[in-house]
Amino acid sequence: MEKGFTITYEYGDNLYVNPTNRCNFNCEFCLRHNGSGGSIYTHNLWLKREPTKEEILESIEGRDLTKYRQLVFVGFGEPTYRFDDICWVIDRMKAHGTKIFTRMDTNGTGSIINGRDIAPEFAGRFDMVSISLNTDTAEKYDALCHPNFPGAYEAMLDFARRVKAYVPTVMMTVVDTIPSEEIEHCRKICEEDVGAVYRVRQYIQE
Ligand code: SF4
Repeated sequence: MEKGFTITYEYGDNLYVNPTNRCNFNCEFCLRHNGSGGSIYTHNLWLKREPTKEEILESIEGRDLTKYRQLVFVGFGEPTYRFDDICWVIDRMKAHGTKIFTRMDTNGTGSIINGRDIAPEFAGRFDMVSISLNTDTAEKYDALCHPNFPGAYEAMLDFARRVKAYVPTVMMTVVDTIPSEEIEHCRKICEEDVGAVYRVRQYIQE
């Protein structure tokens, strides 16, 4: 594994893809703040440069994909910065007959990042999208995630509602460090307002 150039890495049963370190948020809890570059995964996830789409494809198809449950586009950053390239990679995999369950973990603002509604482009490419809900109000969200543009909470919820039409499973997540009433309020937003699958994630420390 080339230091500073980890394109794909194993974690649990899944294979993760790290296409970018860019992000339009600066979350208080971001693993990027812990300085050493994601040592929980024992890899250095800070990229010396972003991989090309061809390098991403090669890194994925160079693996024995039968070993993994899911192929997860996540990044030590927000993966939708590379949305067009990720779609290209998935389309090439399909053309090659490479089959694996595909998921993207996102902050849900990819349509803002790409300057167009990207939700329809998930159709036929992704089996699952996981969106970080994080909290139950726009004010708390801004204080926690520090998005670099206004209206991020609504943009994220709007994307979650829209992408449901194009992806079999849409999941929204919170981390278990928030108070229990907030966890329950987030459950209502996720299940009743958006209609997505709710998951409370365990906080992972370095
Ligand atoms: S959205 Fe993800 S990558 Fe971006 S700052 Fe937040 S936790 Fe970090």
